[in-house]
Amino acid sequence: MHADFIKMDILNKYTISRKENKNGTYHFNYEIDADAFKTFVEDEIKDAEVLANVEMKSSSSETILQINLTGKVTVECDRCLDDLVIPVEFEGVAKAVYEGNEESDEEYDIIYFSPEDEMIVLDEYLYESILLCLTTQKVHADISDCNPAMLEKFSIVSQEEFDNITAQQQTMGENPEFEKLKALKNEMEK
Ligand SMILES: [Zn+2]
Repeated sequence: MHADFIKMDILNKYTISRKENKNGTYHFNYEIDADAFKTFVEDEIKDAEVLANVEMKSSSSETILQINLTGKVTVECDRCLDDLVIPVEFEGVAKAVYEGNEESDEEYDIIYFSPEDEMIVLDEYLYESILLCLTTQKVHADISDCNPAMLEKFSIVSQEEFDNITAQQQTMGENPEFEKLKALKNEMEK
Protein backbone atom coordinates (compact mmCIF):
# COMPACT_ATOMS: atom_id res chain seq x y z
CA MET A 1 0.00 0.00 0.00
CA HIS A 2 2.81 2.32 0.93
CA ALA A 3 4.56 1.73 -2.40
CA ASP A 4 1.34 2.53 -4.24
CA PHE A 5 1.00 5.75 -2.34
CA ILE A 6 4.51 6.86 -3.29
CA LYS A 7 3.90 5.94 -6.89
CA MET A 8 0.72 8.01 -7.05
CA ASP A 9 2.41 10.84 -5.30
CA ILE A 10 5.22 11.11 -7.80
CA LEU A 11 3.19 10.09 -10.79
CA ASN A 12 1.27 13.33 -10.76
CA LYS A 13 4.31 15.45 -11.33
CA TYR A 14 3.44 16.70 -14.80
CA THR A 15 -0.15 17.85 -14.76
CA ILE A 16 -2.31 20.45 -16.45
CA SER A 17 -5.56 21.72 -15.06
CA ARG A 18 -8.13 21.62 -17.81
CA LYS A 19 -10.51 23.56 -15.59
CA GLU A 20 -8.16 26.54 -15.42
CA ASN A 21 -7.19 26.36 -19.07
CA LYS A 22 -10.50 25.84 -20.76
CA ASN A 23 -10.53 28.08 -23.72
CA GLY A 24 -7.48 29.01 -25.73
CA THR A 25 -3.87 28.08 -26.36
CA TYR A 26 -1.60 27.46 -23.39
CA HIS A 27 2.05 26.56 -23.02
CA PHE A 28 3.69 24.42 -20.37
CA ASN A 29 7.34 23.49 -19.91
CA TYR A 30 8.65 20.70 -17.79
CA GLU A 31 12.12 19.51 -16.96
CA ILE A 32 12.18 15.74 -16.69
CA ASP A 33 14.99 14.22 -14.67
CA ALA A 34 15.83 10.69 -13.62
CA ASP A 35 13.64 10.96 -10.50
CA ALA A 36 10.59 10.91 -12.73
CA PHE A 37 11.45 7.36 -13.72
CA LYS A 38 12.11 6.01 -10.29
CA THR A 39 8.44 5.18 -9.82
CA PHE A 40 8.47 2.73 -12.67
CA VAL A 41 9.57 -0.85 -12.40
CA GLU A 42 11.86 -0.75 -15.39
CA ASP A 43 14.85 0.97 -13.97
CA GLU A 44 16.85 1.20 -17.15
CA ILE A 45 17.19 4.96 -17.11
CA LYS A 46 20.15 6.04 -14.99
CA ASP A 47 20.00 9.73 -15.75
CA ALA A 48 17.76 12.06 -17.74
CA GLU A 49 17.76 15.65 -18.86
CA VAL A 50 14.72 16.14 -21.03
CA LEU A 51 12.72 19.27 -21.73
CA ALA A 52 9.05 18.80 -22.43
CA ASN A 53 7.27 21.54 -24.27
CA VAL A 54 3.51 21.19 -24.29
CA GLU A 55 1.08 23.35 -26.22
CA MET A 56 -2.52 22.80 -25.28
CA LYS A 57 -5.39 24.05 -27.41
CA SER A 58 -8.64 23.69 -25.60
CA SER A 59 -12.19 24.62 -26.50
CA SER A 60 -15.61 23.44 -25.44
CA SER A 61 -15.45 20.70 -28.05
CA GLU A 62 -11.91 19.30 -27.66
CA THR A 63 -8.53 19.46 -25.98
CA ILE A 64 -5.47 18.86 -28.14
CA LEU A 65 -1.94 18.66 -26.83
CA GLN A 66 1.14 19.12 -28.98
CA ILE A 67 4.02 17.53 -27.10
CA ASN A 68 7.70 18.01 -27.92
CA LEU A 69 10.56 16.39 -26.09
CA THR A 70 14.23 17.17 -26.50
CA GLY A 71 17.20 16.14 -24.41
CA LYS A 72 19.13 13.07 -23.48
CA VAL A 73 18.96 10.05 -21.23
CA THR A 74 21.72 7.86 -19.86
CA VAL A 75 21.31 4.10 -19.93
CA GLU A 76 23.65 1.18 -19.54
CA CYS A 77 25.46 0.03 -22.66
CA ASP A 78 24.30 -3.54 -23.38
CA ARG A 79 27.77 -4.43 -24.53
CA CYS A 80 30.09 -2.98 -21.87
CA LEU A 81 27.70 -1.82 -19.10
CA ASP A 82 29.24 1.68 -19.06
CA ASP A 83 27.04 4.75 -19.28
CA LEU A 84 25.57 5.39 -22.70
CA VAL A 85 23.96 8.74 -23.54
CA ILE A 86 21.07 8.59 -25.97
CA PRO A 87 19.50 11.71 -27.49
CA VAL A 88 15.76 12.19 -27.08
CA GLU A 89 13.75 13.85 -29.85
CA PHE A 90 10.03 13.29 -29.86
CA GLU A 91 6.95 15.00 -31.28
CA GLY A 92 3.48 13.77 -30.52
CA VAL A 93 -0.09 15.01 -30.74
CA ALA A 94 -2.56 13.81 -28.16
CA LYS A 95 -6.21 14.38 -27.51
CA ALA A 96 -7.32 14.59 -23.89
CA VAL A 97 -10.71 13.01 -23.29
CA TYR A 98 -12.78 12.22 -20.22
CA GLU A 99 -12.31 8.83 -18.64
CA GLY A 100 -15.22 6.65 -19.58
CA ASN A 101 -15.52 8.14 -23.05
CA GLU A 102 -13.81 5.38 -24.95
CA GLU A 103 -12.18 6.97 -27.91
CA SER A 104 -10.13 5.73 -30.78
CA ASP A 105 -8.54 8.13 -33.14
CA GLU A 106 -6.14 7.52 -35.98
CA GLU A 107 -4.85 11.04 -35.86
CA TYR A 108 -4.12 11.44 -32.15
CA ASP A 109 -2.81 9.60 -29.16
CA ILE A 110 -5.41 9.54 -26.41
CA ILE A 111 -4.85 10.76 -22.85
CA TYR A 112 -7.73 10.10 -20.46
CA PHE A 113 -8.45 12.43 -17.57
CA SER A 114 -10.98 12.58 -14.79
CA PRO A 115 -14.10 14.67 -15.42
CA GLU A 116 -14.23 15.36 -11.69
CA ASP A 117 -11.02 17.27 -11.08
CA GLU A 118 -10.16 17.85 -14.76
CA MET A 119 -6.47 17.31 -14.14
CA ILE A 120 -4.62 16.02 -17.18
CA VAL A 121 -1.73 13.86 -15.98
CA LEU A 122 1.07 13.57 -18.52
CA ASP A 123 3.57 11.47 -16.59
CA GLU A 124 2.93 8.16 -18.27
CA TYR A 125 2.69 9.68 -21.74
CA LEU A 126 5.99 11.51 -21.29
CA TYR A 127 7.69 8.45 -19.86
CA GLU A 128 6.51 6.17 -22.64
CA SER A 129 7.47 8.69 -25.31
CA ILE A 130 11.00 8.85 -23.95
CA LEU A 131 11.15 5.05 -23.93
CA LEU A 132 10.14 5.11 -27.61
CA CYS A 133 13.37 6.99 -28.32
CA LEU A 134 15.33 4.08 -26.87
CA THR A 135 14.10 1.29 -29.09
CA THR A 136 17.34 1.11 -31.03
CA GLN A 137 20.03 -1.24 -29.82
CA LYS A 138 21.46 0.23 -26.65
CA VAL A 139 25.19 -0.02 -27.33
CA HIS A 140 27.94 2.49 -27.99
CA ALA A 141 27.86 3.13 -31.75
CA ASP A 142 31.64 2.85 -31.94
CA ILE A 143 33.11 -0.13 -30.15
CA SER A 144 36.15 1.95 -29.19
CA ASP A 145 33.83 3.97 -26.94
CA CYS A 146 33.06 0.84 -24.97
CA ASN A 147 34.92 0.04 -21.79
CA PRO A 148 37.73 -2.25 -23.04
CA ALA A 149 38.21 -4.02 -19.72
CA MET A 150 34.59 -5.10 -19.73
CA LEU A 151 34.71 -6.20 -23.35
CA GLU A 152 37.65 -8.37 -22.56
CA LYS A 153 35.94 -9.74 -19.47
CA PHE A 154 32.96 -10.74 -21.57
CA SER A 155 35.33 -12.04 -24.27
CA ILE A 156 33.51 -9.92 -26.81
CA VAL A 157 36.76 -8.95 -28.46
CA SER A 158 39.96 -10.87 -28.99
CA GLN A 159 43.14 -9.92 -27.15
CA GLU A 160 44.43 -8.25 -30.30
CA GLU A 161 41.32 -6.08 -30.69
CA PHE A 162 41.46 -5.28 -27.01
CA ASP A 163 45.04 -4.04 -27.30
CA ASN A 164 44.09 -1.89 -30.29
CA ILE A 165 41.20 -0.28 -28.45
CA THR A 166 43.32 0.37 -25.38
CA ALA A 167 46.09 1.88 -27.48
CA GLN A 168 43.54 4.11 -29.27
CA GLN A 169 42.09 5.30 -26.00
CA GLN A 170 45.54 6.09 -24.64
CA THR A 171 46.36 8.11 -27.71
CA MET A 172 43.14 10.07 -27.41
CA GLY A 173 43.72 10.48 -23.68
CA GLU A 174 47.07 12.23 -24.08
CA ASN A 175 46.83 15.84 -23.15
CA PRO A 176 49.59 18.37 -22.50
CA GLU A 177 48.23 19.51 -19.13
CA PHE A 178 48.24 15.97 -17.86
CA GLU A 179 51.74 15.40 -19.21
CA LYS A 180 52.93 18.53 -17.37
CA LEU A 181 51.39 17.30 -14.14
CA LYS A 182 52.95 13.91 -14.59
CA ALA A 183 56.38 15.48 -15.12
CA LEU A 184 55.90 17.65 -12.04
CA LYS A 185 54.87 14.65 -10.01
CA ASN A 186 57.95 12.71 -11.15
CA GLU A 187 60.11 15.71 -10.29
CA MET A 188 58.71 15.90 -6.79
CA GLU A 189 59.18 12.23 -6.15
CA LYS A 190 62.88 12.38 -6.97
ZN1 LIG B 1 29.66 0.17 -24.54
